[in-house]
Amino acid sequence: MAYLRSKSDLPSWFQGWVSSGIADVRRSPRARRIRVVADDLGVHLVVPSRVGLGLALGFLESNRPWVDRHANVAVARRATLESWRGYRMLEGERSPFDGDIAGLRKECASALKNLVASEADRTGLQPTVVALRAMRTRWGSCSSGGRVCLNWRLGMAPERVRRYVVIHELAHLKQGDHSSRFWALVHRWWPEWQMDKAWLREHGWLVANLPHR
Ligand SMILES: [Zn+2]
Repeated sequence: MAYLRSKSDLPSWFQGWVSSGIADVRRSPRARRIRVVADDLGVHLVVPSRVGLGLALGFLESNRPWVDRHANVAVARRATLESWRGYRMLEGERSPFDGDIAGLRKECASALKNLVASEADRTGLQPTVVALRAMRTRWGSCSSGGRVCLNWRLGMAPERVRRYVVIHELAHLKQGDHSSRFWALVHRWWPEWQMDKAWLREHGWLVANLPHR
């Protein structure tokens, strides 16, 4: 087993991703095993605090194709994001933006609240509370107490995509899991949901990172 004294002993191909700001190493007291995770704009090597960095060497080598693939996606996304500087998304389209984030957040939040109110009326599924938040990894959530929480940035997505997410969360008021019964409920209120789910898979990372300053 190779022994790493420091992060600079990581393989040079990975070091390359680190020095270009695409990848980093995170020592975690809570992690139970070495893993690599990708988020919207980068790749993270997570190593449990109690595990020697040396064990990461073999792990990285055997996961190199995965790491390279996700790092390359992150590079392309960062370039796309850069091209959005000075813009917001409006109904899914690029639109000039020179306002402040607080104002944009207010605008998005009120549009989403209106949509929840009208969809709650249409479906008869009434949340107890509707909250708008900055969420890192999700578009929405629904607690067992009937509290629906939405990511305010969703307000920049196309109207139909917003509607899909709202109906998704309202359907959780009846069905907490993602079982076939749950998807049947979504389908009943929004038959074309699959198109919107696919849109989010492709463009969600961009919405989540706008406006880019
Ligand atoms: Zn869900």
